[in-house]
Amino acid sequence: MKIYKAAIIGLGPSGLAVNKILYGDSSSEIIAFDNGDIHNRDNFFGFWLTDWMKPFENIVEKKWHEWTIGDKKINITHTSSDKPYCVISFKKWKNYCLDSKNKLEIINKKVIQYFSQQNYFKIITADNNEYYAEKIYDSRSAKEKKDELIQHFFGINISVADNTFNENKLTLMHFTEEKNLLHFIYILPFSHNKALVESTVFSKEIFKSSWYREKIINYLSLKNVSKFEEISTEKGIIPMFFVEEKRSSSPNIFNIGIRGGACKPSTGYAFSFLIKQIQLLKNSKNNYVDIHKFLERKMDKIFINYLKNNNENGQSFIKLASNLNGNEFQSFMMGESNLLTKLKIIKSMPKLLFIKELLK
Ligand SMILES: Cc1cc2nc3c(=O)[nH]c(=O)nc-3n(C[C@H](O)[C@H](O)[C@H](O)COP(=O)(O)OP(=O)(O)OC[C@H]3O[C@@H](n4cnc5c(N)ncnc54)[C@H](O)[C@@H]3O)c2cc1C
Repeated sequence: MKIYKAAIIGLGPSGLAVNKILYGDSSSEIIAFDNGDIHNRDNFFGFWLTDWMKPFENIVEKKWHEWTIGDKKINITHTSSDKPYCVISFKKWKNYCLDSKNKLEIINKKVIQYFSQQNYFKIITADNNEYYAEKIYDSRSAKEKKDELIQHFFGINISVADNTFNENKLTLMHFTEEKNLLHFIYILPFSHNKALVESTVFSKEIFKSSWYREKIINYLSLKNVSKFEEISTEKGIIPMFFVEEKRSSSPNIFNIGIRGGACKPSTGYAFSFLIKQIQLLKNSKNNYVDIHKFLERKMDKIFINYLKNNNENGQSFIKLASNLNGNEFQSFMMGESNLLTKLKIIKSMPKLLFIKELLK
């Protein structure tokens, strides 16, 4: 009976990070399970360049020092010289994390359950096979929950006529007018003629791909882009609630990634936080680390409740963006804002509605 040093359940970005950051420099034998084919996955993960993300700067696809937030009437431009917005593709992250000294065995199967036996765990897969490991890193998570908000999106990587996009400026949020719905377009201009254009909604239920596609086409036609070549698509659901599994009572079970509470629910940003989580775990004796600070979590909860109970159309985001400069805005998005910035954020919000949510 072979007992692996650790078993990783799910080879999304967090499972991959465990392999590289925790075991990459060792000669440990690790086993990883994924029920999908990770080689078929690709999408872009965006984040602002914080100190903890600097070690990965050389696999960044592209950086933007300018971004905009607005709607058809107003456009706020933010700049940051030292904390640009960056993207890393899943494929690059995967290749980076699989390039390690340790021995990793990948099993393309669904894990059904695992339980502790003496000083190791028995892992059962859907085909009733058994595997054994000393530690478990579990990244399985539910992305939807009844009556909770989700961020859902569909994006198309397009190729268009030359000089269509300003490749130095990304569109972080362009809100469109919808009935009782928060919807925005997100554009990553990789070059003057190539971009990822995404349609994103904050609501309780997802839509058919054709809905988002129509929004993308409408937006592009307003920008006089009537013809484009579709290179690829990506879609997803990100929970806007605290997913966090209860801390495991076993010191050798680690809940990681979104499952371990990495996502900042008010924004859906999770990639850089799940990397921070694994970095923190490396230097921790515990099986759990706090990624988001108490005050940040509190503000997130209030903001999500506000979004759940009010028909927000993007004006709060635009007001927030107009009251902050680029560095303040990115510090808020990356959970690193100081007290003064937090006060500016609170000041930007609709006061009465926020006080109501605070008192709930
Ligand atoms: C298309 C897309 C774009 C995103 N863009 C951004 C972004 O720009 N910036 C950002 O910060 N965040 C972004 N996110 C949010 C977040 O970073 C991702 O959801 C990220 O993939 C979360 O990583 P994870 O490792 O926690 O979970 P997942 O990526 O969900 O990985 C879990 C893995 O476990 C596998 N699995 C599940 N159940 C089992 C089982 N029973 N047995 C075996 N394997 C199993 C799944 O197949 C999956 O591969 C995006 C998400 C998506 C989907």
